[in-house]
Amino acid sequence: MGEKIIPYGRQSLDKNDAQAVIDCLDSGWLTTGPKVKEFEQKVSAKVRGRFAVAFSSGSTALLGAVAALGLGPGDEVITTPLTFAATANCVLACGARPVFADVFADTLLIDPLSVEALITPATKAIFAVDYAGQPCNYTVLRSIADKNGLVLLSDCCHALGCEQDGLTPAQQADIAIYSFHPVKHITTGEGGMLVTDDDVLAVKAASFRNHGITTDFKEREQTHSYQYDIEELGGNYRLSDIHCALGCSQMEKLNDFLDARERIARVYDEAFVDFPGITPLRRSDGHANHLYVIRVNGGLREELFTRMRSAGIMVNVHYLPVHLFTLYKRELGTSEGLCPVAELAAKEILSLPIFPDLTAEEQFKVIDELKKNMTMLRSG
Ligand SMILES: *Cc1c(COP(=O)(O)O)cnc(C)c1O
Repeated sequence: MGEKIIPYGRQSLDKNDAQAVIDCLDSGWLTTGPKVKEFEQKVSAKVRGRFAVAFSSGSTALLGAVAALGLGPGDEVITTPLTFAATANCVLACGARPVFADVFADTLLIDPLSVEALITPATKAIFAVDYAGQPCNYTVLRSIADKNGLVLLSDCCHALGCEQDGLTPAQQADIAIYSFHPVKHITTGEGGMLVTDDDVLAVKAASFRNHGITTDFKEREQTHSYQYDIEELGGNYRLSDIHCALGCSQMEKLNDFLDARERIARVYDEAFVDFPGITPLRRSDGHANHLYVIRVNGGLREELFTRMRSAGIMVNVHYLPVHLFTLYKRELGTSEGLCPVAELAAKEILSLPIFPDLTAEEQFKVIDELKKNMTMLRSG
């Protein structure tokens, strides 16, 4: 009946964002100019990492991370199956092998004990994912990494603005990667960022972003030199000034966005206290609330998903376990039973709409439809 569809996530844009883009178009600098630097500085200040390198997407920033680390054939990287495939794809892309650890049932964050059990002489890195926006246990992961001489990476694409005991993932991992896709905390349309405290890794990532060229255009202009060298393979993974102008404008609102997401998450928390058949994931302080995920008990997730979609509520499933995709089964020989906790969770999880512009009325409709349908389904 012409009812408005409620997505699970959506960007928040205003006149200031539009003006920032227009100002950039008027400035004469369309790419690799002042806005890229400004955006990199804003993100690095927010997540408290020394160096930030903007990329054309979160996924290309992930490629930049494995390239900067020099990962390749013979290397293993331990990660989680409950993530967007890009986390593991970047490992496959460089010829290294993703190894899947299991997760905790109540948070769906990677389980450090499971990580530790998978370490072999070939292991080079741990790739943690701050699933739904909740920081992993970085204290424990850091000590496992240090004890075994491994690199600790953080796929922070869900978690711009998250903290744990006053520390950001960028302060605890060797490299943290962010995404600015429209469903994420802030958007540049497409875009990503690699953050690290290590100057060598930052220089390598910046070079990978630009065909492996070892100096940047400005340096050559300043020294009146046409000389440059290429030491490693790279590509064009740059983010334009136009995108970064939007990113700078969006960063002004990040704290408001985080507050709005926390407010929405609390309304859901309260709505489902003791509601039979629905168990929200456990949320800690410092959660960035990219996703609000419930577990639907009693084998009713499929039916509930269908009914919510019919009601115009675009619930979603994050994620299908990565190790069960055809590509992974074929390349790695992975199969059902490898990560039982994650596999069971994947059959029960449902992501509810959460984004700063979700109105109280819309959220009420989501909760109402969910409870109504769950009650009907449970009474058979
Ligand atoms: C969004 C996302 C990415 C990829 O980001 P893009 O900017 O869409 O390329 C990678 N990992 C996770 C966990 C994500 O959610």
